Amino acid sequence: MTSASNTNTSHRPSRNATAFLRLHTTYPPISSLSPEDQTCPICHFSYEICNKAAERIGALPEHPIQITLPTCNHIFGHVCLSVLCSMSVPWGNRCPVCRTKWFRPQRSTVIRAALERRRKEVEDMEENLGVLEESIGSMELLGAGRAGDDRGLARAAREQVEGMRAYVEEARVVLELATRDQEDEE
Ligand SMILES: [Zn+2]
Ligand SMILES: [Zn+2]
Repeated sequence: MTSASNTNTSHRPSRNATAFLRLHTTYPPISSLSPEDQTCPICHFSYEICNKAAERIGALPEHPIQITLPTCNHIFGHVCLSVLCSMSVPWGNRCPVCRTKWFRPQRSTVIRAALERRRKEVEDMEENLGVLEESIGSMELLGAGRAGDDRGLARAAREQVEGMRAYVEEARVVLELATRDQEDEE
Protein backbone atom coordinates (compact mmCIF):
# COMPACT_ATOMS: atom_id res chain seq x y z
CA MET A 1 0.00 0.00 0.00
CA THR A 2 1.36 3.44 -0.90
CA SER A 3 1.41 6.28 1.58
CA ALA A 4 -0.99 8.24 -0.65
CA SER A 5 -3.67 5.58 -0.35
CA ASN A 6 -3.09 5.48 3.41
CA THR A 7 -3.80 9.19 3.60
CA ASN A 8 -6.95 8.82 1.54
CA THR A 9 -8.28 6.06 3.76
CA SER A 10 -7.77 7.96 6.99
CA HIS A 11 -9.53 11.08 5.63
CA ARG A 12 -12.65 9.35 4.40
CA PRO A 13 -15.67 9.83 6.68
CA SER A 14 -16.29 6.79 8.89
CA ARG A 15 -19.42 4.67 8.43
CA ASN A 16 -21.06 6.45 11.38
CA ALA A 17 -20.24 9.86 9.90
CA THR A 18 -21.58 8.89 6.47
CA ALA A 19 -24.83 7.59 8.02
CA PHE A 20 -25.21 10.78 10.05
CA LEU A 21 -24.67 13.01 7.00
CA ARG A 22 -27.19 10.98 4.99
CA LEU A 23 -29.90 10.82 7.68
CA HIS A 24 -29.64 14.04 9.64
CA THR A 25 -28.89 16.80 7.16
CA THR A 26 -30.79 18.87 4.62
CA TYR A 27 -29.76 21.31 1.86
CA PRO A 28 -31.37 24.73 2.34
CA PRO A 29 -31.17 27.10 -0.66
CA ILE A 30 -28.82 30.01 0.05
CA SER A 31 -31.63 32.52 -0.60
CA SER A 32 -33.71 31.01 2.24
CA LEU A 33 -31.00 31.65 4.85
CA SER A 34 -30.93 34.64 7.16
CA PRO A 35 -27.92 36.95 6.51
CA GLU A 36 -25.97 35.61 9.53
CA ASP A 37 -26.41 32.05 8.27
CA GLN A 38 -25.03 32.79 4.81
CA THR A 39 -21.46 32.34 6.06
CA CYS A 40 -19.92 29.02 7.07
CA PRO A 41 -19.19 29.14 10.85
CA ILE A 42 -16.04 27.04 10.32
CA CYS A 43 -14.21 28.95 7.55
CA HIS A 44 -16.24 32.19 7.71
CA PHE A 45 -16.57 32.38 3.91
CA SER A 46 -19.93 33.24 2.41
CA TYR A 47 -21.55 30.40 0.41
CA GLU A 48 -22.35 32.87 -2.34
CA ILE A 49 -18.70 33.87 -2.79
CA CYS A 50 -17.49 30.24 -2.56
CA ASN A 51 -20.01 29.28 -5.23
CA LYS A 52 -18.83 31.99 -7.63
CA ALA A 53 -15.16 31.16 -7.05
CA ALA A 54 -15.82 27.44 -7.58
CA GLU A 55 -17.76 28.18 -10.76
CA ARG A 56 -14.84 30.13 -12.18
CA ILE A 57 -12.36 27.27 -11.70
CA GLY A 58 -14.88 24.55 -12.54
CA ALA A 59 -14.77 23.07 -9.03
CA LEU A 60 -17.67 21.54 -7.13
CA PRO A 61 -19.89 24.41 -5.92
CA GLU A 62 -19.88 25.05 -2.17
CA HIS A 63 -23.32 24.79 -0.62
CA PRO A 64 -24.82 25.02 2.87
CA ILE A 65 -25.84 21.89 4.74
CA GLN A 66 -28.17 22.13 7.73
CA ILE A 67 -28.13 19.63 10.60
CA THR A 68 -31.62 18.33 11.43
CA LEU A 69 -31.19 16.97 14.96
CA PRO A 70 -33.65 18.03 17.72
CA THR A 71 -30.74 19.68 19.57
CA CYS A 72 -28.77 21.10 16.62
CA ASN A 73 -29.87 22.90 13.46
CA HIS A 74 -26.57 24.55 12.66
CA ILE A 75 -25.55 25.20 9.06
CA PHE A 76 -22.09 24.59 7.54
CA GLY A 77 -20.46 24.61 4.14
CA HIS A 78 -20.44 21.03 2.83
CA VAL A 79 -16.64 21.09 2.28
CA CYS A 80 -15.86 22.15 5.86
CA LEU A 81 -18.47 19.75 7.24
CA SER A 82 -17.09 16.72 5.41
CA VAL A 83 -13.50 17.61 6.39
CA LEU A 84 -14.57 17.92 10.04
CA CYS A 85 -16.45 14.60 9.96
CA SER A 86 -13.44 12.83 8.41
CA MET A 87 -10.85 13.98 10.92
CA SER A 88 -9.48 11.47 13.40
CA VAL A 89 -9.76 13.85 16.33
CA PRO A 90 -11.85 13.45 19.48
CA TRP A 91 -14.03 16.48 18.61
CA GLY A 92 -14.66 15.49 14.94
CA ASN A 93 -18.07 14.00 15.82
CA ARG A 94 -19.54 17.07 17.54
CA CYS A 95 -21.07 20.32 16.34
CA PRO A 96 -18.31 22.96 16.55
CA VAL A 97 -20.93 25.60 17.45
CA CYS A 98 -23.11 23.92 20.13
CA ARG A 99 -21.11 20.73 20.93
CA THR A 100 -24.09 18.42 20.23
CA LYS A 101 -22.82 14.90 19.62
CA TRP A 102 -23.59 14.08 15.98
CA PHE A 103 -22.50 10.45 15.81
CA ARG A 104 -20.46 7.84 17.63
CA PRO A 105 -16.80 8.08 16.66
CA GLN A 106 -15.72 4.90 14.93
CA ARG A 107 -12.01 5.48 14.84
CA SER A 108 -11.42 5.44 18.58
CA THR A 109 -8.48 3.04 18.10
CA VAL A 110 -6.87 5.48 15.65
CA ILE A 111 -7.44 8.38 18.05
CA ARG A 112 -6.14 6.35 20.99
CA ALA A 113 -2.95 5.51 19.04
CA ALA A 114 -2.44 9.20 18.11
CA LEU A 115 -2.96 10.26 21.75
CA GLU A 116 -0.49 7.59 22.88
CA ARG A 117 2.15 8.92 20.44
CA ARG A 118 1.53 12.46 21.63
CA ARG A 119 1.82 11.36 25.27
CA LYS A 120 5.22 9.84 24.52
CA GLU A 121 6.33 13.09 22.81
CA VAL A 122 5.22 15.24 25.74
CA GLU A 123 6.97 12.91 28.22
CA ASP A 124 10.19 13.09 26.17
CA MET A 125 9.97 16.90 26.11
CA GLU A 126 9.42 16.98 29.87
CA GLU A 127 12.41 14.73 30.46
CA ASN A 128 14.73 16.76 28.18
CA LEU A 129 13.58 19.96 29.79
CA GLY A 130 14.33 18.56 33.27
CA VAL A 131 17.90 17.78 32.20
CA LEU A 132 18.27 21.27 30.67
CA GLU A 133 16.96 22.97 33.81
CA GLU A 134 19.40 21.02 35.95
CA SER A 135 22.40 22.09 33.87
CA ILE A 136 21.23 25.71 33.89
CA GLY A 137 20.95 25.42 37.66
CA SER A 138 24.62 24.45 37.89
CA MET A 139 25.55 27.21 35.39
CA GLU A 140 23.88 29.70 37.71
CA LEU A 141 25.72 28.31 40.74
CA LEU A 142 29.04 28.54 38.89
CA GLY A 143 28.24 32.00 37.49
CA ALA A 144 27.30 33.42 40.89
CA GLY A 145 30.89 34.14 41.89
CA ARG A 146 32.09 35.05 38.38
CA ALA A 147 32.13 37.86 35.87
CA GLY A 148 28.94 39.44 34.49
CA ASP A 149 29.33 37.63 31.15
CA ASP A 150 28.82 34.20 32.72
CA ARG A 151 25.88 35.42 34.76
CA GLY A 152 24.31 37.02 31.65
CA LEU A 153 24.65 33.74 29.78
CA ALA A 154 22.98 31.81 32.56
CA ARG A 155 20.20 34.38 32.72
CA ALA A 156 19.53 34.15 28.95
CA ALA A 157 19.49 30.35 29.14
CA ARG A 158 17.08 30.49 32.11
CA GLU A 159 14.69 32.77 30.18
CA GLN A 160 14.76 30.47 27.20
CA VAL A 161 14.12 27.37 29.27
CA GLU A 162 11.19 29.12 31.02
CA GLY A 163 9.60 29.73 27.60
CA MET A 164 10.07 26.07 26.75
CA ARG A 165 8.59 25.03 30.09
CA ALA A 166 5.46 27.10 29.37
CA TYR A 167 5.16 25.46 25.94
CA VAL A 168 5.54 21.94 27.35
CA GLU A 169 3.03 22.64 30.13
CA GLU A 170 0.50 23.84 27.55
CA ALA A 171 1.10 20.72 25.43
CA ARG A 172 0.44 18.62 28.55
CA VAL A 173 -2.86 20.43 29.28
CA VAL A 174 -4.06 20.01 25.66
CA LEU A 175 -3.12 16.33 25.80
CA GLU A 176 -5.04 15.74 29.05
CA LEU A 177 -8.13 17.55 27.68
CA ALA A 178 -8.05 15.47 24.48
CA THR A 179 -7.61 12.28 26.53
CA ARG A 180 -10.58 13.16 28.74
CA ASP A 181 -12.73 13.97 25.66
CA GLN A 182 -11.80 10.62 24.18
CA GLU A 183 -12.57 8.71 27.40
CA ASP A 184 -16.00 10.42 27.55
CA GLU A 185 -16.73 9.12 24.04
CA GLU A 186 -15.93 5.48 24.86
ZN1 LIG B 1 -16.55 26.53 5.55
ZN1 LIG C 1 -24.97 22.71 16.56
